[in-house]
Amino acid sequence: MPELPEVEVTRRSFADAIRGATVHSASLGKPLRWPLGPEPGVLAGRRVLAVRRRGKYLLLDLDEGLLLIHLGMSGSLRFAPTLPERGVHDHFELQTDRGLLRLHDPRRFGAVVWAADEADPRARKLLGGLGAEPLGEDFDFDAFQAGLRASRMPIKQLLLGGKVVVGVGNIYASEVLFLARLRPTAPASGIGPQRARRLHAAIREVLARAVERGGSTLRDFASTDGNAGHFQLEANVYGRAGLPCKVCGAPVRLLRQGQRSTYFCATCQRP
Ligand SMILES: [Zn+2]
Repeated sequence: MPELPEVEVTRRSFADAIRGATVHSASLGKPLRWPLGPEPGVLAGRRVLAVRRRGKYLLLDLDEGLLLIHLGMSGSLRFAPTLPERGVHDHFELQTDRGLLRLHDPRRFGAVVWAADEADPRARKLLGGLGAEPLGEDFDFDAFQAGLRASRMPIKQLLLGGKVVVGVGNIYASEVLFLARLRPTAPASGIGPQRARRLHAAIREVLARAVERGGSTLRDFASTDGNAGHFQLEANVYGRAGLPCKVCGAPVRLLRQGQRSTYFCATCQRP
């Protein structure tokens, strides 16, 4: 599943190239998770002003309206002057004077949604509940700490929920908590200022590093046949159950939290 870093790298792969492009037409394939809204004809003649990201949504700002694009479980986007013939899994395409933007999504959990602006209920429904952007300037420490204090959840569940901060998916959550030396089961509300600082910094560090790694393989990434996959993360704990912790040598442990695998080191990570 594309996570925030993959979505950010996708954004960087075409944001500059598509800026200023004029849309000739748009076409839809099979239904995606949510409908576009208006008929695709509404996009004809629109100009692309910018490509932004909010959480795992890409926001294509048009001179009138915007498109919210989500990659779902298996989606990937490509923008190129020309692309091979459309395949059965290509469910959205924007034809512009600079090239084609195409969403490839075999499992169709992705979506392309049109909204008049960000205040449009259609946009608010998708973006309204999102927590702070971990890589942006609005990832304020005090607000983050207040979010921890107000929670009744174990810290890992809180991070996965995305209401305090977005982008910490399952793999990243294990890595972030290892770096912050916090036990995934620790109640979020009991995390003191010092540990909260470490956690805040670890979230930024792990996600920024993932974007960087993706960025460094951007050319390969953009030239794949639309299969984004995952960036190779140099995992400290994730997927390493039973193997020695890279810091202390104790075996990495595995537990299930809300049906998801959690990896941690019981020596390095304090409850
Ligand atoms: Zn350890």
